[in-house]
Amino acid sequence: MPADSSTTSNTTTTTTTASTPDQKLRTGSCLCGGVRYEVRGEPITTRVCHCANCKKATGAAFMTNGFFKEGQIRTIQGADLLKSFPDLNTESGTPLNRFFCSVCGSNVFLRSDPSGTRYDDIHIIALGTLDAPVEWSE
Ligand SMILES: [Zn+2]
Ligand SMILES: [Zn+2]
Repeated sequence: MPADSSTTSNTTTTTTTASTPDQKLRTGSCLCGGVRYEVRGEPITTRVCHCANCKKATGAAFMTNGFFKEGQIRTIQGADLLKSFPDLNTESGTPLNRFFCSVCGSNVFLRSDPSGTRYDDIHIIALGTLDAPVEWSE
């Protein structure tokens, strides 16, 4: 038996806490603290992405991404420090802008390209930037 897991079937971890109607407010920042954001409520989904572009962007083996609706995220500080790199060659085929802090280089957000045909209101957070780890961020 090969040791690698064959359990790749839809392993999206949805930890919906429907019992708590009040939405938790969490905060996050880049490494230098110049960019700060707050996020309300739970993610639509989370993905551990091992694609080549996420490896390049982070310099790590994978990137942990939380998918939220646009309205759940608010940049509370340092929006002017965010720079974006247009990642046009994604595995999903949806062009993404990768937003990073221009001071410390942390990956913070990913957004679909507003000029693209597949633009949506999904706002992805690099979950490693959350101030306090959450069950779905690890
Ligand atoms: Zn920074
Ligand atoms: Zn990826």
